[in-house]
Amino acid sequence: MSRALFIHGPHEARVAPFNLREGRPGEVLLDVASVGLCGSDLHYFKDGGIGAAVIKAPFVPGHEFGGFLCEDLEDRGLARGTLVAVDPNKACGHCEWCRENHPNLCPNVEFIGAPPFDGAMTDRIWVPASQIVPLPPAFDPLDAVMLEPLGVAIHAVDLAKPRLLERVGVLGCGPIGLLVIQVLKAAGAGEIFACDPLPHRRAMAERVGADRVGEAVADIVAWSGGGCPLVLEATNSPNGFREAVLATRIGGRIVLVGIPDGDTYTLPAADARRRGLKIKFARRMGEVYPRAIELVATGKVDVRSIVTHRVGLEEAPRVFEALAANQPGYVKALIDPRP
Ligand SMILES: [Zn+2]
Ligand SMILES: [Zn+2]
Repeated sequence: MSRALFIHGPHEARVAPFNLREGRPGEVLLDVASVGLCGSDLHYFKDGGIGAAVIKAPFVPGHEFGGFLCEDLEDRGLARGTLVAVDPNKACGHCEWCRENHPNLCPNVEFIGAPPFDGAMTDRIWVPASQIVPLPPAFDPLDAVMLEPLGVAIHAVDLAKPRLLERVGVLGCGPIGLLVIQVLKAAGAGEIFACDPLPHRRAMAERVGADRVGEAVADIVAWSGGGCPLVLEATNSPNGFREAVLATRIGGRIVLVGIPDGDTYTLPAADARRRGLKIKFARRMGEVYPRAIELVATGKVDVRSIVTHRVGLEEAPRVFEALAANQPGYVKALIDPRP
């Protein structure tokens, strides 16, 4: 019998036996090698949902994962036992948004690990073969897991379109903020000013290449002399939008990547309006896996140093609590569900 981590509702995560469902046509079975605990999983844990996506029945999270093929995938040239990553976003392929090349916005999406679709915090999972992402031979399960959050960072930077050597503010130095900082550098951005209230996250932001890292948005405002031309927000705070506005200079651009606790932003309209800001919301990602793989393979992005914890499935509920409580030392946690 499989076991899985179930979220039942706010602050209720439990590991329990799990009946692996039958495979469907076009699906392939994976032994889950490792699965990341994402900020969005934490929202399900803390709030019991994200906006209208409310957990109605015990739900298995996990959309950032790699696994070993349980059978040959002959048409892809992949043998049983090969480590692969999985793109969790199975878009319908025929709606307006899919046809306009926005599979991340598809309203008919089946997203592995977003309710009601169970995710990978379990030992085995059926996934559509079309979602399998082959990996270079040197990749290990950690690399496979981190491609998904790295893809989110790539998509955010794609939307932000940093100009060469442009100064950028980054709010929030959690896993996504730390990846955004590195992708910005790879994309040719200039000085990066970051902020985060947690000291261990600030230290990590310095290590991955932020030029100056402060405790609060006021630091970014001071260092930039009134705001940066481009700001990426990757916090989980209802004040994230407001602070992004304050960190942006007149006529600047903002990309909002974070998901706010409680699903509500507070924002004085005049601050944003008077600056004439251009604001974009990042939603998941588009076609990013080839670039994510290249950034990791070439060492342009270091995904390893962001991972601070790797635990077995039985310890996962404790890690959810620790991350929800902002415990010192926790940045990215991976769960290795197989004993
Ligand atoms: Zn995620
Ligand atoms: Zn679609």
